[in-house]
Amino acid sequence: MSSPYALPTGWISGAAVRGDGPAHTVLNPATGEPVATVALAGAADVDAAVASARSAQNDWGAATPAERSEVLRNLATVLRDNSGMLAAEEVAHTGRTIRLATEFDIPGSIDNVDFFAGLARNLEGKASAEYSGDHTSSIRREPVGVVGSISPWNYPFQMAIWKVIPALAAGCAVVLKPAELTPLTTLTLARLATEAGLPDGVLNVLVGTGADVGSALAGHAGVDMVTFTGSTAVGRLVMGQAARNGTRVQLELGGKAPFVVFDDADLTAAVHGAVAGALINAGQDCTAATRAIVARDLYDDFVDGVAELMGSMVVGDPTDPVTDMGSLSSCAHRDKVAGMVDRAVSDGARLVTGGTVPDGPGAFYPPTLVADVAEDAEIYRDEVFGPVLTVSSFSDDDDAIRRANDTVYGLAASAWTRDVYRAQRAGREIHAGCVWINDHIPIISEMPHGGFGASGFGKDMSTYSFDEYLATKHVMSDITGVAEKPWHRTVFTGER
Ligand code: NAD
Repeated sequence: MSSPYALPTGWISGAAVRGDGPAHTVLNPATGEPVATVALAGAADVDAAVASARSAQNDWGAATPAERSEVLRNLATVLRDNSGMLAAEEVAHTGRTIRLATEFDIPGSIDNVDFFAGLARNLEGKASAEYSGDHTSSIRREPVGVVGSISPWNYPFQMAIWKVIPALAAGCAVVLKPAELTPLTTLTLARLATEAGLPDGVLNVLVGTGADVGSALAGHAGVDMVTFTGSTAVGRLVMGQAARNGTRVQLELGGKAPFVVFDDADLTAAVHGAVAGALINAGQDCTAATRAIVARDLYDDFVDGVAELMGSMVVGDPTDPVTDMGSLSSCAHRDKVAGMVDRAVSDGARLVTGGTVPDGPGAFYPPTLVADVAEDAEIYRDEVFGPVLTVSSFSDDDDAIRRANDTVYGLAASAWTRDVYRAQRAGREIHAGCVWINDHIPIISEMPHGGFGASGFGKDMSTYSFDEYLATKHVMSDITGVAEKPWHRTVFTGER
């Protein structure tokens, strides 16, 4: 075991800052051992970080798209050069597997930086023209200004990238608050961004609690936009804090994705898809498959297949490349997951596999399948955010779609069928920001990610995300040079 190292409180104006706030220990949830210590930021640090962003905003917003693109291209290169270190940090503070970090988190995030490096040079709007006949109208896309970003602990690096990079591409300066459980890779991102040539003050990071730093950032009058990824309950608080200043808000919140298996589905594909979709990142994924809704004819075979595959998963040391699933993010979170499964079983659901907290250190919880779940059960309705899949059956296609939509959330869903019309109906009628057909989980930089309903609004990734950080301005220029314009009649008439 290596001894914990001291992290900076944040990164402001291109340099590490060390505060004297309350000490916080970042734990490795797979071992329970301390990884790092940090003096947490407070409201005064938020003022300093926002002031730093404001002082950088004008120059960064006025940089040419090509200049911003070049910095982001450099950043992608520097991140690639540091992939190994980033992956190791991501494993150390989350307990995720090294395979997930090296094959998904880090390369996927760098691809996102590459994508926005290109998109920075691709501002879009309506064509300039003389729409009135007497004026030239043109559209300007301008950075919205200083962005306050708040990110969660489940995918710390990827979420930091999603929150920050489109904003930088659009010309915004950013203050980012990561979850204090998982600050390592976000602080490293800020340091590497400075190394890559990002001007001082354009990206500032503060490690602090949500109650102190998150709420101060969301309610700060110097912030022009707040973007938040996290739970629905906190997202609504953040929206209330931002509303005090009428600040623009984007919210990426919780999910409860249905996984609908029709009776003509490829059962093997559905079983593999369900286990992969439910257990990625130990189920701590807002789009994870959580509610399998399966045609009665396939129900028993689906349950058996999923239980068998779940039972073959290697759970343990996340640094070992053979490990399939590491720990959850903290023992407190693991206990919350375990409590939801225990209550479901005592309320009459059938525990098919998993469901027992193992002995020993670390926030481990096994792959868990809970069958015969009632539609009003807590585990069916609320976000579990752990390696837990529930299964229930449906009677016909209408019932399948009704059950899929029977949730306040609307982030992601999948439908499994070989019938093209069923697939199209699912894509059309399931109420979610993403509907996969015969797969569950894949994301791609070119396509948007974001929810409906209690899953929030606005998009991450893709051109849609870039748009979130751009204000649209109409410039309308008189081309007649006439002093007395015909429209003045609506205000006054006659010679003056
Ligand atoms: P959380 O809501 O507890 O915390 C998210 C962030 O908000 C953290 O940085 C936290 O410190 C901060 N925060 C907490 N209280 C705050 C307050 N009062 N004011 C301002 N900020 C505050 O979420 P979490 O537990 O870190 O993450 C898990 C949740 O995130 C799940 O619900 C998951 O579905 C969701 N999530 C959604 C997406 C998406 O894209 N929709 C992606 C990842 C995670």
